[in-house]
Amino acid sequence: MRKGADLAYHWATMCVLTLPIDRRDRELESIPSAPGTYVLILRVEASVRLQIGRLGRFDVPPGGYAYVGSAFGSGGLRGRLRHHLAPVRRPHWHIDWFRTAASVCEVWVAEGAAVEHAWAGHLLEQPGAFAPIPRFGASDCGCATHLIGFPQPIQYAGVIADSMAAHIPGR
Ligand SMILES: [Zn+2]
Repeated sequence: MRKGADLAYHWATMCVLTLPIDRRDRELESIPSAPGTYVLILRVEASVRLQIGRLGRFDVPPGGYAYVGSAFGSGGLRGRLRHHLAPVRRPHWHIDWFRTAASVCEVWVAEGAAVEHAWAGHLLEQPGAFAPIPRFGASDCGCATHLIGFPQPIQYAGVIADSMAAHIPGR
């Protein structure tokens, strides 16, 4: 993956984007407006006690987090990610609440693929992964969580990249 600002295509249906704070509007133009699945890679700098909507209050340790979601409505991936990269004004979704204490440092996108539940489960199986907030983003599915914690921020590379890609149909 090229660091900095460029969209990096790893294969036909998947791209990974690093997101410098000062170039997010430009980066967003590179994201397809098609539907698909995405992962936000987030960083939490210091321990924090967070209210997550009606789920309750949770202690969140510093480290890296991955939030898995999908966008199959109007606006597609670009529209949804524009929301996730803008400052949080009135928190609605669980991830809005979480973002009040976290910054997004990378985005993974699988255009056209509905793999959010497979990816959420797969990420939680990685070494060191944990579920800081049970049922986060998983009100409407059977997943343990759609927010996975890691001791360090993870990058789209190596074992994780290969195994995530394997979940995409047609690969
Ligand atoms: Zn799920």
